[in-house]
Parts: sequence; structure tokens; C-alpha cells
Amino acid sequence: MSNVVVIGAGIAGIQAALDIADHGIGVHLIEREPTIGGHMAQLDKTFPTNDCSMCILSPKMVDVERHPLITIHTCSEVEKIEGEVGHFTVTIKKLPRFIDEETCTGCGDCVLICPVEVYNRFDAGIGVRKAIYKPHPQAVPDIVVKDPEHCIECGLCYDVCGPDAIRREDKEQKFTLHASSIVITTGYSIFDAYNKKQFGHLVLPDVITSLELERMMNASGPTGGKIRRLSDGREPKSIVFIQCVGSRDATINRPWCSCVCCMQAIKNAILIREKNPGTDVTICYMDIRSYGKGYEEYFERAKNLGVRFLRGMPSDVLADKNGMSLQVENSETAEVQVLHPDLVVLSVGIGPSERSGEIAERFGIPLEDTGFIKTVHDAVDTVATLCPGIYVAGTATAPRDIPDSVASGGSAAMRAYIDAIRTRSE
Ligand SMILES: Cc1cc2nc3c(=O)[nH]c(=O)nc-3n(C[C@H](O)[C@H](O)[C@H](O)COP(=O)(O)OP(=O)(O)OC[C@H]3O[C@@H](n4cnc5c(N)ncnc54)[C@H](O)[C@@H]3O)c2cc1C
Repeated sequence: MSNVVVIGAGIAGIQAALDIADHGIGVHLIEREPTIGGHMAQLDKTFPTNDCSMCILSPKMVDVERHPLITIHTCSEVEKIEGEVGHFTVTIKKLPRFIDEETCTGCGDCVLICPVEVYNRFDAGIGVRKAIYKPHPQAVPDIVVKDPEHCIECGLCYDVCGPDAIRREDKEQKFTLHASSIVITTGYSIFDAYNKKQFGHLVLPDVITSLELERMMNASGPTGGKIRRLSDGREPKSIVFIQCVGSRDATINRPWCSCVCCMQAIKNAILIREKNPGTDVTICYMDIRSYGKGYEEYFERAKNLGVRFLRGMPSDVLADKNGMSLQVENSETAEVQVLHPDLVVLSVGIGPSERSGEIAERFGIPLEDTGFIKTVHDAVDTVATLCPGIYVAGTATAPRDIPDSVASGGSAAMRAYIDAIRTRSE
């Protein structure tokens, strides 16, 4: 028995699965969503190269799907882990998709005919999807899923489905897998900006989050790649980013730095200024943390493109007769400034995956006080958990960007591979 179970198929889990399988070890990749890809699939471009996110993620997703040693289990979660390193038994719960995965061709005829529209979580709530849908155009597996909560059972999708792949009834299934080791890559959750009420998210329509901006900027997103005000559909001529929303904030028990928000705001500011040099872009910040390879140069590039960096945190965002206003004390000059942007973007922080507590409790894996998964040592053993044979990578253990998530996925893969080889030779 020398398979590895990887839980969570974002970029860290995908990298771990590919590296393990490329060394001849079988992998079961467990993903609770109907597609693999994680948060990276929602991003438009990625810093510091400005690569199109899906253009670099999608080939890896396809490699996973085609790999003879990787089995993907979507709509699935791990219910129980028993045993010890070399000999784990993992119980998987597969939630109903209401689609026959073998016969669905992903043609999308059912999606076109479905009359129900609901908010689309993949578009961070600013777009709509149907009650039967494909999570996004490059989904892997390339098949649909039915949302039983919103389906009105009109029957149109059954009539139009050529291969007869839609199921009226589908039940939760349970099965067990055997594994020599386990890699947890369950990722992060995004701070709910509504919890910082002073910034007006979900109250003022032209206050959006950084993830909503990513979806707007994406050519296959809900606005076709155009930044639009949700209030009147107008293109904003002035945009203010507010940094550290849900990060470095002891008042809401989130003292950590989220690692990626400075760079993602700089990235989007660069993209906006390059496309529309007439748009005024201001980033209100506490400190700019541009610590990675090429990151400081990226920051300089933004300044050269005319992005304004204003050191100071606005106290709130208010509606006024001209639209919105926010007051900021520039901590470099002690001058108080009032800004009247057309659009405010809240750079929301990264926190532990919302179910990490449950995972920790269920699998007996200790967490940090922050809720991220604890590793053996923060400097010299950053992928082993305190449970032998169970490893963790990507943002499940701390906020990280994509390059670091990929590196830690590879690192956890190597540890899991060593366990598998030891088990084989027992
Ligand atoms: C607005 C924004 C912009 C960003 N821009 C950039 C950028 O330009 N460049 C960059 O380097 N980084 C960027 N990042 C950071 C980047 O998103 C992360 O570094 C990266 O996506 C982390 O990947 P991951 O695999 O660790 O986690 P995730 O992408 O969160 O993947 C985790 C996966 O695990 C699944 N999962 C969770 N729990 C379970 C469970 N119990 N069972 C089964 N599956 C489960 C999830 O559904 C998900 O698919 C940005 C982040 C944000 C918020």
C-alpha cells in the first residue's frame, strides 16, 4: 500500500499530486468543489510576471486529469483518517453532483436552457450562474453540476441532455482509501469585508473587494474584463485601494500579515494604469511589503506608471452628495486628505480555511492560535505536521503567494514520496 491522499486541489495540492505521481506513486486528489484549481482559477493575472492566471494553471489541471497515477475525487471531503504513517485508512464522503460523471460530455446544452439564475460564488458574487452549471470554462473535470438548492425541477435540462447524464436522484456516497501518507492542501478563506463595517462593503455598491476586482478584470468574468461601478455601470475614473482589510488588525483578532495583498494591489494598479492611463489610482497603505524575487522592481514600476502610494489608513468610507468620500491622514506629511473616488477596492486578507478547525479536530492535527495548521518547525520543517505521515503545504499553513505555495507543495510531495518508498520496502 503506497498511495498518497492529497486533500485540497488548489495550486499547492495540484503541484504535490503531480510531483508524487511523476515519481511513480499513485495519488488520490480529494477536492470538495466540483472542479480542481482553487483560488488561483479565480485570479485574472498573477504578480510579478503578469501571466494570465488560468494560462499557467490550466495546463497543470489538465496534466493532473490525464496522469495515469492520479485519481481526482471532486465534490468530496475526507471524513475520517485512521492508522499511522505507512498504513492510513481514509474515509471519503462524496457529495451528490446529480450528474453521471462518466456520460456527461460537458456540452453545456443543459446550462443554456436552465431558466434559473443565482449569484455565482466563483465570480465572488458579482455575476450569476444557472442552477445547473459548469464552475468555469476550464473546469476539470469538464462536466456540469446541479445545485439542488436552487433547481426548480422544471425538467428542461433532462429533455435537452443527449447522453441522459442528469440524475433526478443522487445520494451521498462513502468509500475508503489506503495511503502511506497524507498531504493537506486545503488552502485559505478570504476575509469577509462586511465585518469591517466602516468601509461599507455590501452597503455602498461601489465598494468592492480585491477578489471582486479580479473577477471584473478577467475577460471571461461577469463584466467581460471591464471595470464597472456596480451602482451605474460607469467606468471609474478614480480608484482607491485600501490595504490590510482583515490583516494586521488586532481589533478583530487577525494580527498576521496576509502576504499577498500589497503585491496584488500593485499588480491591479499596474494593469489599470497600463490599460487606462487616464484613471487615477491611489493605494492607501500601512507598509508596502515587496519581499520576493522581482517584487521591489514591480513596486517601482507601479510608481513609474503614476500609481499614487498614500501612507495612511482611511477611518471609513462614507456616502456623500458627490458619491463617496474617505478621509486619510498621510502619516509621512501629517496632512489630512479627503478623497472622492469613483470606486473603492478593499484588499481583503487571507485567513485559515473556514473548515480548518473541523479538519484539525477530526484528524487530531494541532493548529496555530491563528487557525492555520501547525508545522513541526517554522524555519527548518515547514511541511511536516505534528502527526507523523501527515504533511501540509500551501496556504493551509500560512498566507503565501503562488510561488511559495508551489514550492511547499513540491516539498510536501518529496516527504510523502519517501514514506511511500519506505512502506513499499517493508
Ligand atoms: C485577491 C487575491 C489576489 C491574488 N493574486 C495573486 C497573484 O497575483 N500572485 C500570487 O502569487 N498570489 C496571489 N494570490 C494568492 C494566491 O491566491 C494563493 O497563493 C494560492 O491560490 C494558494 O493556493 P493553495 O493551493 O494554497 O490554496 P487554495 O487556492 O485555497 O486551494 C485550496 C483547495 O482546497 C479545497 N479544500 C478546502 N477544504 C477542503 C476539504 N476539507 N476537503 C477537500 N478540499 C478542500 C478548496 O476547495 C480549494 O480548491 C492572491 C490572493 C488573493 C486573495
